[in-house]
Amino acid sequence: MSPERMATNPALPKNGVVFLMYHELEIPGRPLCQTEAGYSRYVVQEANFRSQVKWLQEAGWRSLSVSEALASEQPNGSKSNAVAVTFDDGCESDLLSAAPILSGAGYHATFYVTVGYLGRRGYLTPPQLRELGALGFEIGCHSMTHVYLTDLDERGLQREIREAKAELEEILGKPVKHFSCPGGRCDARVIQVARSAGYNSVANSRVHENRPATDNFDLGRVAILRETELPAFQGICRGDSLWKIRVGDSLRGAAKQLLGNSLYDRGRAFLLR
Ligand SMILES: [Zn+2]
Repeated sequence: MSPERMATNPALPKNGVVFLMYHELEIPGRPLCQTEAGYSRYVVQEANFRSQVKWLQEAGWRSLSVSEALASEQPNGSKSNAVAVTFDDGCESDLLSAAPILSGAGYHATFYVTVGYLGRRGYLTPPQLRELGALGFEIGCHSMTHVYLTDLDERGLQREIREAKAELEEILGKPVKHFSCPGGRCDARVIQVARSAGYNSVANSRVHENRPATDNFDLGRVAILRETELPAFQGICRGDSLWKIRVGDSLRGAAKQLLGNSLYDRGRAFLLR
């Protein structure tokens, strides 16, 4: 992307802010939205999420929504002890579990919602989504149907990015400014459609801190997984263990490129059986 098209973030600290990426939380006794192994890898147990928030709080970290992370002015230009907290997909556990735990700590977050999932079993209903917004949490868009955007033609991109935004705004009665890509799949066409649809940012799942020079349409995020233990979580928040995750991701990225999305997913499902 050419430098003049970039929207950068002078408010971010030089050493960057890590954007955490969560999905469904597992509440004891409550069935998950989906059951395959590839899915539950991304499901964090509620007790672990609670421990992570407790550690952040005790260690004096702040938790920001995407808008706050990109816009807020910080004393001394320093935001080094802040993370941005994001959730993808719009599972009901956003409201039942994540929201009360975050609110209890006075923490903010952004919930990216798959519009076509609203009202399905295990996902938020439109009234629950409004309730989540009314609690002060930011709502972003995570596409209409959760397809890989890089596989779509122009018509498909418009539906998944622009029409999903309009539908979400209709439900919420206010503007939706931030978009996150299903499966982290993003390219220049996705960014162009998101930009022209009026979003202020696009988040993917590339593992990097977001710094003053980071483009708002290339926001990296780090997935917190079921297996992520507290010391690893602390390393992620501090940014000092991201290189290890990047090594693993670049190997997986090479496999995806070699095999294509659908073959890669079938291979992954096979290996995780
Ligand atoms: Zn997703």
